[in-house]
Formats: sequence, structure tokens, C-alpha cells
Amino acid sequence: MVFILEPKAEQEKINSFILNWEEKGFSTILSVGTEHTAVCLIGNTAAVDLDHVVHTTDIVAYGKRITERYKAVNRTVHENVSTVIKVGDVSIGEGFFTVISGPCSVESEEQILTIAKSVKSSGARVLRGGAFKPRTSPYDFQGTRAEGLQMLVRAKNETGLPIVSEIMNQTQIELFEDVDIVQIGARNMQNYDLLRAVGGMKQPVLLKRGLSNTIEELLMSAEYIVASGNPNVILCERGIRTFETMTRNTLDLSAVVLLKQKSHLPVIADPSHAAGIRSLVAPLAKAILAVGADGIMVETHNDPASALCDGAQSLDLEQFGTLMNDLKKRAELEEKEI
Ligand code: PEP
Ligand code: MN
Repeated sequence: MVFILEPKAEQEKINSFILNWEEKGFSTILSVGTEHTAVCLIGNTAAVDLDHVVHTTDIVAYGKRITERYKAVNRTVHENVSTVIKVGDVSIGEGFFTVISGPCSVESEEQILTIAKSVKSSGARVLRGGAFKPRTSPYDFQGTRAEGLQMLVRAKNETGLPIVSEIMNQTQIELFEDVDIVQIGARNMQNYDLLRAVGGMKQPVLLKRGLSNTIEELLMSAEYIVASGNPNVILCERGIRTFETMTRNTLDLSAVVLLKQKSHLPVIADPSHAAGIRSLVAPLAKAILAVGADGIMVETHNDPASALCDGAQSLDLEQFGTLMNDLKKRAELEEKEI
């Protein structure tokens, strides 16, 4: 159940409204949007008389039952105004098409800086770079780890681009102090202890869909993070496992559309891990913009042929520049700020 509060509801009254429900044994999540504030009631609400609450509580404008299992991330909570997440002066959400770009993994100081400067000049707003890499084989390059994160932070300081990097477990939290967006990779989408742990962090979380997870499961994982205290979750479709073998994964564009309909959270997509093939990345990026996503995360490299990870799907810096020029024209038609 969610109660949408009157625009001028006083904080004191909101606090006592919340306390009252918690004393009755419910959990609550306060969700502050740009247009309105909502209080989600978690627990068995079957016996709650919604109309009675609305009529007897002056700070409540209206209430709705949420039948889905995901509550705080539900579109119903912020029906008309989607959540826009601010990272420095970068906005991610409705009205924007935010391009996140950078290498699969941070390999060296020179590599990350070269890429950061180039993607910035092409129009990327956030720099990505994996330091801790989840690899299928233990014998493959595992990332430059803590040192890699430091290189990424230096690239941020040099270029001013906010950074995003994947956290693989809770013991790494302290290392992520200067990372602006914390990424949960596909393989960890249902690592509930990790989801709860990033729910306690101050930075926004970029949550990638698991390889074989449903849209509902992705939303439930986002719910874990929000219910643990972090309202700033960016959902990311990155391709799912299907019977197809010609692509690394199958980009689920319907998921992008559905996620936008089912949730108020920003939704982006990753054409690189979906495709696994460089020549598909730009066409898919354009398709992602066309179906209404709030951004993309795309892998780039100064020398894809010698990349230590995912070179085959990485755009070189010139190809990325060309893609950006194309996306800028299209974003204008969609009336989105890129
Ligand atoms: C990544 O973005 O670096 C990555 C490992 O992607 P995914 O978790 O989607 O496989
Ligand atoms: Mn990769």
C-alpha cells in the first residue's frame, strides 16, 4: 500500500504518520520524489481500510494498493514523475539520455586516461571501468583490483567525469569511497547480502539484470536495495541467455519498455555485453534510445585488439565518436538531453 502525501505536508506530521504505522508492526519506506512524497507500507495490509486512512489523515492526498511484490520501486509510488538520479552535474532518468562509456577493465593509468579524455570529448557523461572483474575462468585476467580503482579515481580527477565500477562483495565497500556509482554485475544480481550492503551506501547503484533473471526478479533485487535505505537505483538491461549462439546474449528491448512502465526508476541498457560483437553495438545503442531508455553503458577501448577483456565488443574511440554524433541527433528528436 502506498500513501501519496499532500505537497505541503509538514515533516513533523509525516514522522508521526510513519511512527504510527511502525508501532502497528508495519515497515515503511519514505520515498521523496521531485513532485511528491510517498509513504509505502510494507506488511500484511489486507485489514487496512485505505479510504478511512485517506479521509482521516490530513497530510494524505490519496492512497493505492500495490498488488505487485515490488513496492518502493513500483511505478505506482511516483506515477507521473519518474525518478531522476543526480551524480554531480549529471542527471540519469526521464528526459535524459546519459551515455556511460569506458573500457571493460581498467588496465593501466595511461589506458584509462586516454579513454576517459576521448569519450568525454565525444560526449560521454560518466566513465566506466571495471577494476574487480567477474570472469568465467579463474585463469583469465581478474582485473587490476584496488590499484585499478585508484587509476579510475585519478581519471575522474583529471577529466571531471563521474565514475562507475563493479563491486563484487561487501569487503570492498571501503575501497569504493570515491566511486560515484556502484555497479552490481549480472552475476551478483541476486546476491542478497551484497544488495543489502549497497543499500547502506550513499552512492547510487547501477543494478544489472542477471543472465537468466526475469524482469520481476530484477525489480525485486532493486527493492532490496531501496528497502535497505538507498533510493537511488539505476536498472540496466544487458542481454539475457537464450538459445541463440550468434550473439553473446539477446538484448531484451521489451524489458527496457516494461521496466519503464512498471517502475519509476531510471532504466538504461548495455548493448556491448548484450551483443558481444562490435558491429552490433551502434545499431543496438540506437534501438535502445528509440524504445525510451534513459541511457546506455557502452564499452570502449583505445586499442580493442589488445584489450585484456571484452575487446571483441569494444568500440574504438573513433567509432564511439561517430556513434555519439548519431545519438545526439536522435536524442534531439526524442527531446532528451544527452
Ligand atoms: C561489466 O559491465 O563490466 C560486466 C561484467 O557486465 P555484466 O555484469 O552485465 O556481465
Ligand atoms: Mn565487459
